[in-house]
Formats: sequence, C-alpha cells, structure tokens
Amino acid sequence: MKIVLFALLAFGTVFAYAFTPAKTVAWNGYPGAVTFTFDDGLESQITTLKPIIEELGIKVTFFATSAFYFGSNSAPFVALAQAGNEIGNHTTTHANLSSVTDDATLANEITAHAQKLRALDASMEATTFATPYCVASSQAYQKINDNHFMSRNCGGSGLFSWGTEPNWMQMDSHYWQSSSTVSDFTNSLTQAATGKWYVQLNHGVGGDWDVISGNDIKTLMQAAKDKNLWIDTYQRIGSYYRASFTMDKAEAVTTDDGYTLSWTSPHAHFPKSVKLRINLDVSSIDDDVVVSQNGVEISPESDGTYIIEFMDLNLSVQKKAITSLGSKKVNLNFKVRAEKNEFLVDGLSSGNYTYRISDVRGKVLAQGVLPAENEARIARPAYNGVVLVSIIPESSAQKATTVMLPSL
Ligand SMILES: [Zn+2]
Repeated sequence: MKIVLFALLAFGTVFAYAFTPAKTVAWNGYPGAVTFTFDDGLESQITTLKPIIEELGIKVTFFATSAFYFGSNSAPFVALAQAGNEIGNHTTTHANLSSVTDDATLANEITAHAQKLRALDASMEATTFATPYCVASSQAYQKINDNHFMSRNCGGSGLFSWGTEPNWMQMDSHYWQSSSTVSDFTNSLTQAATGKWYVQLNHGVGGDWDVISGNDIKTLMQAAKDKNLWIDTYQRIGSYYRASFTMDKAEAVTTDDGYTLSWTSPHAHFPKSVKLRINLDVSSIDDDVVVSQNGVEISPESDGTYIIEFMDLNLSVQKKAITSLGSKKVNLNFKVRAEKNEFLVDGLSSGNYTYRISDVRGKVLAQGVLPAENEARIARPAYNGVVLVSIIPESSAQKATTVMLPSL
C-alpha cells in the first residue's frame, strides 16, 4: 500500500509546476563582498582601528571574548555595535574547544557568552561565532549551532562562491599574521571582485598580537572600496548569503489576482532583520502589480529589483487595484468628495469595501476597511497635494475605482 501511494505521489510531481519567482541578487548587486573581522576584543582595535573605520565609513565585525581587554572594557565596543558594526561571540575565556566535550563547559564558553553579549545592548544580537584557535570538537560545533547561525574558522583563502552552500559551522577565513604582506591580501580582494565573498581574520591593529599596522589595514580597506566591493559585517553578508538559499527555492501559491510566497527562517538564531535584494517575476501576473509584505507596499528600486525584509517570511504580488483616471475600469456609480477633514464616499452599492489613499507615485498614505454606511467617511491623511482614493470591492465581480482628489 505504501508503495502504491508513493508511486502516485511521484507520478503527481511530474505534472506539478513549481513556480519559484524570487531570485536573490548576488552580493546585493556588488561585484563581490568582503568582511573584515577582528578577534579577541583588544585595546588596539579601539585606539587604532576605530578611527580608521570611522574615517572610511566601513562596518566590521569584532569577535569578542571576555578573556582580554573587552572583558572589563565592553563600552567602546557596544558603541561601535550601535553604530552598525557587529560584536560576535568568541567564548568566555578564549578556550580551545577542540578537546572540550562536556556540556557544562561548552555552555559556559558558548551559550553563556552569547547571552552576556546580547544582554549588553539591543544592537548586539551575537548571531555569529568564531572559534578560538580555529578549532572545535563535534560537540562544540553542535553547541555553537544551537546558539548561532554561522561560525568562522581560518586556515584557507576565506573565499565563498555565490550559489554554493558552505558548511555554515566551519566557515573559512584568510588569517593575517605578523609575517603577512599586503600584496597577498589585495590579491584576495581582487578575487572577491569576481563574484565572491572574502572573509579576513585580523587581531591587533598597530598593537597587541598578530599585528597588522594601521596603514596596512587602511590600504586594504581602501582597496576594497576602490573595487566597489560590498563591505559589511559578517552577520549582514552571511545572513544575506544564507537567506538566498531559502528565498530562491520559495514556491509561489497562486491567488485570484497574483501569488503569495512564504518561507521559514533557516536558523533559530538568524538576525532580527535581513534586507534582501531580489529579482521578482511579476510580469507573468500583470503590467501593474503591487508587491507587499504584511500589507505594506514595496516599491521597486530604479533597477527593477525589490529590497524586501526576509524576516517577514512572506511576500505578496497582486494586480494593482488602483486604476488610473480615464481607464475603462473606472466606474462612477458613486461619488467621493473631499470635505474639511474627511473624504465622503456616497452612493456605493451594498457590499464590503476597503479603501486605499496613495500619492500619485503609488505610495500608500492610508488604507483600511470602508465603514458599511450609505455615506462612508475616511479621514484625510496629512498630505499636501493630490491623492488617489481607491475603493476596492471585496467581490471580484466588481472593479476597483480610483478618483483623484486634493488632500489637505
Ligand atoms: Zn582568538
């Protein structure tokens, strides 16, 4: 019996057409991406690095442990996190996790330190991890995965290709050591510009250990800018990268007027917000569509892409209910007129309607359910200019109607 059922299901899939209309734009539309990470929470990262990244306008990631300077001087790192940099987890005591297998020690090193970072400030999500000495036992990796969506190691080129899913718990990085030269590392940036994400590991800047000089890190960061790479935190680029593997597989469910997409977060400790730039197949629906998330309309960018909030976990594409004045869809069986503080809708046939007030570019100013009254009133939005008032019937047998009116 099981075999028969399986055969039917398998047969059914032959005819099923999986419509996957969203495709994430590689590396946010840049030729490649780069993340500069700085381990151990060191004083030189505040005294020497902070002025450099502020001057260049670059966001970086600090993997902080409480074993060193950060342990009693977290405030300047918190301020950097509030400014858009990332503080990731690098354990409580900078423990070598390769031989640690007992749960209590792992919980103290990994879970407790993640919680400590998150408690310092709302800007510190601590969703990513870096292993001290770039090693960990399988039990440690399990504990890291329980608390973070991505973990950084080291030892290789630190280069990742778009569309190839890596092992999120054992992500490589290119390690700057005191014997390193700038040319080796500019070469990595050149490779990043061929459609890859490059992750660099640093420690001290002009002091402490595994030192890179202030001039050298500035040269590399300026080179990354000159190559027009997407320079951002480990969390921001990593979550964009990981989200793409979910987004690009999301299957549309068709509706009367378009389709909806929904998906699930790939990890319990994904960031609260992940902005994703996507190409969306809308032309198969209509020339004129409304793309929205949770009822909020999203306008396309100038290049036709849409920047969506991945963590909303849903998206809707519907034919636009607004029809322009003069269109054959306009139906003037009722009147809408502007009064002092309200729009008055008069003479609608019975039924349920919603309204939407937008500016002439289609940006929604107000929307809601129209009161079921002969003379329904809608508050005029605080907007100086001409607005479009759309009355949208619940029944698809009737067309939506839009009139153009002056607002305040
Ligand atoms: Zn370290």
